[in-house]
Amino acid sequence: MNSSFDVIIIGAGPAGLSLAYCLGKNKLSTLLIEKKSIKLIGEKTCGDALGFERTEELKTLCQIEEPNSESVCEKLETVHLSSANKFEISIAFQCRTIDRLKYGQQLLKMCKISQQFLY
Ligand SMILES: Cc1cc2nc3c(=O)[nH]c(=O)nc-3n(C[C@H](O)[C@H](O)[C@H](O)COP(=O)(O)OP(=O)(O)OC[C@H]3O[C@@H](n4cnc5c(N)ncnc54)[C@H](O)[C@@H]3O)c2cc1C
Repeated sequence: MNSSFDVIIIGAGPAGLSLAYCLGKNKLSTLLIEKKSIKLIGEKTCGDALGFERTEELKTLCQIEEPNSESVCEKLETVHLSSANKFEISIAFQCRTIDRLKYGQQLLKMCKISQQFLY
């Protein structure tokens, strides 16, 4: 393993994985450090809703693929928010729910394909 890198990223969440992929594509040597085991990369307690604009932006800017059919659970037209004190609101918001573990593994695979991913 190299002893020096252009960039060291701590944390293989969506941000770290996306950044590692972009840096790798730009030929920067990158070390990505994650405290979880590889098989658990992506797993996180989350509402799981993901808007289309964000991933479209990632695709346009960095060629990061949209969540694949395995990662996408459900397409939604409305998001319903409620709280313990009975506050409730529905917002028209086109998005989809994703399986975060599967999406994380998809991003991880993409980094490995770019051959800049070290673990
Ligand atoms: C309850 C909840 C619900 C949410 N619902 C939604 C939603 O519906 N839609 C939405 O878009 N967003 C939602 N979010 C926000 C979303 O989860 C975050 O915006 C997103 O995960 C941030 O990505 P990230 O890569 O910056 O960080 P993270 O996903 O938190 O990833 C950080 C990574 O760093 C690792 N790490 C941390 N410390 C270290 C260390 N010292 N050494 C090595 N590795 C380390 C962690 O294990 C993790 O893998 C929700 C968040 C919470 C908490």
